Amino acid sequence: MAKVLSSHHAVYVGSFDPLTLGHVDIIQRGAAIFDRITVGVGINPDKHPLFTPEERLSLATKVLSPLKNVEIRCFEGLTVEFIQQCGARVLLRGVRTLSDIETEFTMTLANRALDPEIDTLFLMASEKYTHVSSTLIKQIAQLAQGNAIGKLDEFVPPEVIEPLLKKYKR
Ligand code: ADP
Repeated sequence: MAKVLSSHHAVYVGSFDPLTLGHVDIIQRGAAIFDRITVGVGINPDKHPLFTPEERLSLATKVLSPLKNVEIRCFEGLTVEFIQQCGARVLLRGVRTLSDIETEFTMTLANRALDPEIDTLFLMASEKYTHVSSTLIKQIAQLAQGNAIGKLDEFVPPEVIEPLLKKYKR
């Protein structure tokens, strides 16, 4: 049977270790464009994330609960195969800087070679989040000595702050 992929349904994948306000901004923009967004929390056996897949899923579910057309799932393996399983046709990616584009370009071509029916759509988050990454947030949570910890709420949703600080016993 021929596969039926919906162009009204987009998939947004990442490690979300942890979910940042940059990710949330992209998901909100996607949810305003598409009928349905599936957020795929990637399980990569080669990475050593701070949060378990269950914790990342649970935090994302809590934060994104007001967005009624967004569902969150964990997945393992290739992104294109996850998109196929979801029955979607569009992969949503967020871009921060020109250097993001370079890696995204290669990844998009590789994904297209694997499934030419799947297209990638790039969205830019608000300029407030250009410098925000999960890596930066983990560094702040781990290393900050002064009032930088109090700035975490500019980078991550409120639900993420306590679990994040707990990981570093702060
Ligand atoms: P990974 O760990 O797989 O690199 P990330 O969780 O870092 O994934 O990012 C998932 C997606 O979100 C990617 O498309 C990435 O470019 C995008 N993204 C991450 N942070 C931001 C941000 N601050 N603004 C816009 N897009 C972002």
